[in-house]
Amino acid sequence: MADAFYDEGLHFSCTRCSACCRGGPGYVFLAKSDLRRLLSRLGLDFPTFFKRYCVLVETGIGFELSLAERPNYDCVFWGEDGCTVYEDRPIQCSTFPFWASIVASKENWTDAGLDCPGIGKGELRSREYIQELLWRRRAEGAVVISAAAALKPEDIDADSILGS
Ligand code: SF4
Ligand code: SF4
Repeated sequence: MADAFYDEGLHFSCTRCSACCRGGPGYVFLAKSDLRRLLSRLGLDFPTFFKRYCVLVETGIGFELSLAERPNYDCVFWGEDGCTVYEDRPIQCSTFPFWASIVASKENWTDAGLDCPGIGKGELRSREYIQELLWRRRAEGAVVISAAAALKPEDIDADSILGS
């Protein structure tokens, strides 16, 4: 495998500042396992969950499910004490900042550190740890909804997207 700039590991410890959860526009795409966990945690059916917490985003492979934002760009699950679904937060959140786009280069990692005070500080995360997170993210199946189903998301049955 080619050398990665993070071969010697990278320092990161989350300060729980919430900067990545609020204050600016962005998408938090849900993987199938995220949707399963959140539906179970909240005890909701898909139409209700969708109406309260989601938006559909056309990404070129269909319509993907993202968490909604409030008008001030706070994530719909953010509360005064931080993430209200922390233990079951989406894998996009739990693997941050070890995303392929961010660890692609030292420059990208440094740039991401301008918005995340945990980057470059705290615990040393090994190359193996970083690669495990990259692999986990890749292995997750995205929730993709067809254009026809996207016209009436309130009629979508969870089993049809998650498989039963
Ligand atoms: S911006 Fe960085 S330090 Fe702040 S909550 Fe997000 S991951 Fe943690
Ligand atoms: S789900 Fe939780 S961790 Fe992820 S962006 Fe929303 S508030 Fe932040």
